[in-house]
Amino acid sequence: MHRVQWLFCGVVVALGMVCGAAAVMADSNLTSGQAIFMNQPPDVLPEVQAQQVLVSVPYHGFDGAVHQGQVVIHKALAEDVAAAFAVMFTHRFPLDSVLPIAHPTILAKGPYGLSSETNNTSGYVWRPVVGAQQLSMHALGLAVDINPHLNPYIKGKLILPPGATYAPAAPGTLTPESPVVQAFKRLGWTWGGDWNKAEKVDYMHFQKIPPGWEDWVRQHRD
Ligand SMILES: [Zn+2]
Repeated sequence: MHRVQWLFCGVVVALGMVCGAAAVMADSNLTSGQAIFMNQPPDVLPEVQAQQVLVSVPYHGFDGAVHQGQVVIHKALAEDVAAAFAVMFTHRFPLDSVLPIAHPTILAKGPYGLSSETNNTSGYVWRPVVGAQQLSMHALGLAVDINPHLNPYIKGKLILPPGATYAPAAPGTLTPESPVVQAFKRLGWTWGGDWNKAEKVDYMHFQKIPPGWEDWVRQHRD
């Protein structure tokens, strides 16, 4: 019986839903309409917004408690995101917060998508690539950043978020051996930690172009 319950629980987690009757701290309870359309910059493309969905995910916080967060992501990657967060849950990989960028808690900490005062894990963010004009993969909902303060972007002397350090042994940090990194790669995602370190590296970052969406991505990024 226990085994059956455990299996059921695993399936439910894989679907990105809250598991069992244990107390869960709901950090984010936005509707998909709020998470995708609220508090957005004026130049956002409605056609891109229309492809986004909201995925609710259970996760372990650094406080040891189980939380419910929410991720806005392209609809073609929703299953991948639920599966990757299920791996994080199983391995008790801690996350600091998992809030849509439009969440009032995030916006209160600084400008849209630019606050360094959070260690927030998120997907969709309407913004260009760092230091460029081209739209970021986040702007299309095709990328996820995890615990940015522990997994910084490093390009020469530029470190984002400012003041972040990369300490591979610290909980919540991504390394090549991490089951989180391996899970994303199995699902066909690219990890920014594998980029050419002489140029830039982005430990927090995963991205994927879903099959069949190559032209759509080119249309918006080229
Ligand atoms: Zn990123």
